[in-house]
Amino acid sequence: MFSNLKPQPADKILALMAAYREDPRDQKIDLGVGVYKNAEGVTPVMRAIKAAEKQLWEVETTKAYTGLAGDPGFNDAMIKLVLGGVVARDRIAAVATPGGTGAVRQGFEAIKLANPDARVFVSDPTWPNHLSILKFIGMPTVSYRYFDEATGGVDFDGMMDDLNQLKAGDVVLLHGCCHNPTGANLTIEQFQTVVDKLNELGALPMIDIAYQGFGDGLEEDAAATRLVAQSCPEVIIAASCSKNFGIYRERTGCLLAISETAAQTPNTQGTLAFLNRQNYSFPPDHGARLVTMILNDDALYNEWKTELEEVRLSMLGLRESLAGELKRLSNSDRFDFVARHRGMFSRLGLSPELVEKLRADFGIYMVGDSRINIAGLNKTTVPLLADAIIKAGG
Ligand code: PMP
Repeated sequence: MFSNLKPQPADKILALMAAYREDPRDQKIDLGVGVYKNAEGVTPVMRAIKAAEKQLWEVETTKAYTGLAGDPGFNDAMIKLVLGGVVARDRIAAVATPGGTGAVRQGFEAIKLANPDARVFVSDPTWPNHLSILKFIGMPTVSYRYFDEATGGVDFDGMMDDLNQLKAGDVVLLHGCCHNPTGANLTIEQFQTVVDKLNELGALPMIDIAYQGFGDGLEEDAAATRLVAQSCPEVIIAASCSKNFGIYRERTGCLLAISETAAQTPNTQGTLAFLNRQNYSFPPDHGARLVTMILNDDALYNEWKTELEEVRLSMLGLRESLAGELKRLSNSDRFDFVARHRGMFSRLGLSPELVEKLRADFGIYMVGDSRINIAGLNKTTVPLLADAIIKAGG
């Protein structure tokens, strides 16, 4: 039977990581995979996570299953973190999921159960896994224009034009903040315009928020999600704790579904729990418990917020120095968008040939679409990257 299996397309980013590891050059720079790294190139366990783990070891008395929806305390804490109380709790269904990916996958599946004809509109480009999951579960997708190669910003007119194709019951997938892979984001006013369009056409927003706290701050990064949640009758939100709590391998995420009325919520909640049951039964708990402890304890919360802010500001500093260095070397402002982008990524707008040249001649590894992980840089490598880009003809 297994001889029927066809080779699956290799994950480009994982293949890039492998090529980087095998590169014998000393002076190589990895700007590929989306993992935060500090100036020493280390992805640290955050201080608050370490402290919470220590406490947990003392107080945890059982590893028996949680509920199908995960720990209710985790779901409440995540609702507060993401939505900050802008939607009545009794309209929100919530389940813990294995990472943000689990939430994304089951968000799509919930949509498919509710409306098998729904098309999912995705930004061009978007996180590649959105597209591959949608394809795998057989949901039709429509791309909407998003990234403007010429300015490094959002092609908002193109986006709104494409959203005119929406029909009632379609879904628009939006990145809550820190768009992956481009780093270019809608303003809050533009989010309002999108919301008005969705409400006019009867389409439903789904928000993927995987980098809260990596852009402009914890509250600021949630503002768009809160606006959408407040303004639309029904909303799906997939939240990840991988990046902002630095617990990538613990697989911690949360799927929220806001119903139009509180009377609908038990059924929506039951559907999300059912999806957990079908896919993996009980969601993982360790990471979720650490997040709950941190969000419910002032000392842990302050420690976490302080470190998250250090992480955010270090990436912002790297952005600004890269943009500055490119400005100086290119004698133009054409790379200024790097400083305006937010989050862990920027799409530089370099051709695939140039990306390949940077790898071959300079040992600089970035994704083929010229997405760089800003956190892969440090003070020493920023000038090296800028110099290589200009020398390679960027
Ligand atoms: N959505 C987006 C846009 C992402 O970039 C990621 C992480 N790469 C995720 C969701 C999911 O992350 P995880 O499953 O690791 O929590």
